[in-house]
Amino acid sequence: MDSTMKSVYDSVIARDPNQPEFHQAVEEVLDSLVPVIQAHPEYLQVVRAIVEAERIIQFRVPWYDDNGDFHVNRGFRIQFNSAIGPYKGGLRFHPSVNQSILKFLAFEQVFKNSLTGLPMGGGKGGSDFDPKGKSDGEVMRFCQSFMMELWRHIGADLDVPAGDIGVGGREIGYLFGMYKKLANEFTGVLTGKGRSYGGSLIRPQATGYGLVYFAREMLATKDKSFEGATVAISGSGNVAQFACEKVIDLGGKPVTLSDSSGFIHDPAGIDREKLAWIMDLKNNRRGRIKEFADHFDGVEYTASKPEPNLNGLWGVNVDIALPCATQNEINGEEAQMLVDNEVTAVAEGANMPCTPEAVECFQANGVLFAPGKASNAGGVATSGLEMSQNSLRMSWTREEVDQKLEAIMVNIHKNAFETAEKYGMPGNYVAGANIAGFLKVAEAMQAQGMV
Ligand code: NDP
Repeated sequence: MDSTMKSVYDSVIARDPNQPEFHQAVEEVLDSLVPVIQAHPEYLQVVRAIVEAERIIQFRVPWYDDNGDFHVNRGFRIQFNSAIGPYKGGLRFHPSVNQSILKFLAFEQVFKNSLTGLPMGGGKGGSDFDPKGKSDGEVMRFCQSFMMELWRHIGADLDVPAGDIGVGGREIGYLFGMYKKLANEFTGVLTGKGRSYGGSLIRPQATGYGLVYFAREMLATKDKSFEGATVAISGSGNVAQFACEKVIDLGGKPVTLSDSSGFIHDPAGIDREKLAWIMDLKNNRRGRIKEFADHFDGVEYTASKPEPNLNGLWGVNVDIALPCATQNEINGEEAQMLVDNEVTAVAEGANMPCTPEAVECFQANGVLFAPGKASNAGGVATSGLEMSQNSLRMSWTREEVDQKLEAIMVNIHKNAFETAEKYGMPGNYVAGANIAGFLKVAEAMQAQGMV
């Protein structure tokens, strides 16, 4: 990083010294923007503004459990940037949630949403509530209490939340119901809704499918494909499940999945039948991935050491790695294990799953590397398509939405690839995505008088 960018970075740290995840996300973007500021010095003021959230909302979320015991959680909504459209980004319910994690996610969302080509600003929110082990009734009461405060800060033309870790179709349903009751109107204020009340076909699949479409494009630049490739996938939630499905569609062989307790390795490959079993386990029975190894022959289970290290999974010998669980789940050592096993490509399904050391290791060793803000943008892009359908009061077919998603992912790949070349860093998708995402937002911020 040059001295100009270093001074911006130092001021970010001085303002919020205890936000390491946010610093990590900012540092990566500032690094990429050095050649842009050399070419367009007028954009330096944009850089200084873009690292500061437009608005941060924090609130109390009180609720009662099934035994009548009282709990208080903390809720957040970070409205980071609205230069190119209403704030858009998911809600995360996980005990680790704090301002640093949500600011990193909201900051990344600004560039990701810009890359989709759709008119969406960047935001993120959530709570330190842990849905694991809670009854449906408890999750419902929590969601209702959360929305009782959040509703006044969001709106179809203002801020449109979606799901993320711990927030899937069930939670979006409860949140939407309470929003509708309080606002007394039926609008597309949340995405990821159920089909019967305004949801889009393919939205549940979108992040995972989009990730694999992006990885397919990236592999094609080296005349490679998923056909016959072994694939390590981490996580077993929304993104992981549908990444797994699309890998199977394209002739690849997924051999791992995980949750926060451990990972499974199935050398024979996870086929459609096994994947359906996992989807039922995770989405209906809300069980642990270990049960897969207990149920199917020839599958190994390895328990995790303490979070956030999913350890062991990245030592499995594969051609392609798709981290789809959480931030910082591949460190430098784990990246080296993948490199030693001659991995061809790593594409991030999760947000920032690779540490800076891991990214450096992949890039130094010629591994094709796709940053999440490009490769997992299919989820928010399809949320954008859900917003369009809600505004039009129409719904598109599965094929129409999937075709639009695929076209968007192909275009994001092309844009990131060509931008990296233009700025003298061929093959560097991190730089390409950051620069392309930034330029559109920067132009809009300048035109609007830097408010
Ligand atoms: P889910 O809650 O559906 O699944 C998350 C998966 O990751 C679970 O298997 C979970 O295991 C595991 N996991 C979560 N936290 C940890 C942790 N600290 N250590 C180890 N494992 C963990 O979430 P999603 O699939 O929706 O999201 C996964 C990632 O993808 C996140 O980084 C999210 O920000 C990103 N993403 C999601 C999008 C979406 O549309 N849903 C869009 C773009 C990005 P367990 O159940 O044991 O906690």
